[in-house]
Amino acid sequence: MDDQRGERAVVLGGGMAGLLAARVLSERYAEVVIVDRDDLTDVATYRNGVPHGRHAHGLVAKGHEIFEGLLPGLTQGMINDGVRPGDFNGSIQWHFNGQRLARSDSGLPCLPCGRPVLEKHVRQHVLAVPNVRVLERHDIVSLATTPDNKRVIGARIQRREQGSQPETLLADNGYFSAANVTACEAGNIAPLIATGRQAHHPSLAERFAAAPAAPSDPTPVQAMAHRLKTPEGKKLYGLRKQVPEPVFGIIKSVLGFRQFLLRGLDRVRGEWSLVTMAWNMKRMFALCPSA
Ligand SMILES: Cc1cc2nc3c(=O)[nH]c(=O)nc-3n(C[C@H](O)[C@H](O)[C@H](O)COP(=O)(O)OP(=O)(O)OC[C@H]3O[C@@H](n4cnc5c(N)ncnc54)[C@H](O)[C@@H]3O)c2cc1C
Repeated sequence: MDDQRGERAVVLGGGMAGLLAARVLSERYAEVVIVDRDDLTDVATYRNGVPHGRHAHGLVAKGHEIFEGLLPGLTQGMINDGVRPGDFNGSIQWHFNGQRLARSDSGLPCLPCGRPVLEKHVRQHVLAVPNVRVLERHDIVSLATTPDNKRVIGARIQRREQGSQPETLLADNGYFSAANVTACEAGNIAPLIATGRQAHHPSLAERFAAAPAAPSDPTPVQAMAHRLKTPEGKKLYGLRKQVPEPVFGIIKSVLGFRQFLLRGLDRVRGEWSLVTMAWNMKRMFALCPSA
């Protein structure tokens, strides 16, 4: 390696960005380690770390070109696996704002496929690079920085043990009840559950306010309400948005689905299946080449 920048690069997350970053870094670092919370070896199906993986995905032309440039042979491997290539404009019926666009061949290739298929092939190529390895079933807990917080120098990670005990529960207001808080405490889990609906854009003063004095002899709910106002509590509570919110956000804003019409777990499950099915059909209609 002529231009080595360092001994080891650590890539946090083995999704699309992580895999491609690892491939690029492998040219400049003696070792590249990808850390992910999921099992990745030989996985060819949906996984918890990529909840949006169930939605229709397609690779746009420039993305496809970059993928193939970095991972030569990727396209042929996917075609051998049953993916049907097409033309980005000639094989796809595009609709924007309810308007159907005219179809003509653009010369830009497209590879419509499910996310697990794409990820499986990209992962196989990247993990075949000799100096890239993956650390599966490890949670990235936080970043490690220099004391002045100016440089990230590493990450704190934690092995996921099957059946291990969670330390903290982060949940929205819908899960709040005194009984839930008490049950968490009884199970040695520190709950951080919003006790009321929160405004979307708190002022800076509110955001950075110092923690109020801790109540003396608090009930479990009072103790939790205080923890939620401390800087550590706010930081932890903020983490809950990371994974599920973009998916729900898209369904709420693009599909306009703001609330359930039915009540009861079974009915809500049914309604949710219909919503996700409708969303997938909408995506597939836009992305899949027509027969
Ligand atoms: C509904 C939907 C449809 C989409 N359709 C398309 C499409 O058609 N075409 C397209 O190009 N893009 C599409 N996208 C966007 C695309 O999925 C994302 O841009 C892409 O997945 C982002 O890649 P990423 O690697 O940054 O994140 P992700 O793919 O989300 O990967 C993050 C990785 O980090 C891991 N991870 C996260 N937190 C931790 C932690 N604390 N500890 C350990 N591991 C962790 C996860 O397990 C996962 O492997 C779509 C997105 C959504 C939501």
